[in-house]
Amino acid sequence: MAIVRWKTDSRPQRHGWAPGEYIHARCVGQLCQELDDSSFIGAKRAIMCADCAYALPDPQSEQVVDPAPKLTQEKLIEMIKDMFRQVRQIELALEEFEDARDEADQHEIDPG
Ligand SMILES: [Zn+2]
Repeated sequence: MAIVRWKTDSRPQRHGWAPGEYIHARCVGQLCQELDDSSFIGAKRAIMCADCAYALPDPQSEQVVDPAPKLTQEKLIEMIKDMFRQVRQIELALEEFEDARDEADQHEIDPG
């Protein structure tokens, strides 16, 4: 039987990591994805272990290297089209739902 030894670290906060005394069952970091057990100890708000957080690029340099993509008019139109498609899908789903509900209501009223 293996001895359970939770991974802990005192390095300062970075990305999803923050030091603390809260036991987390799972780390969302890339390095831990392959592991069966990725439990670790950190702050309650931490979502990944220090190893994974420190393996990621620096949060500040990240902004310089990868700036937010510029929103072009074409992109905006595509987004609006997408939105309308989603609304239409919701409308269709609602219609189906209401049809099914009407049928169910009729069955309840129908004594036979
Ligand atoms: Zn991890």
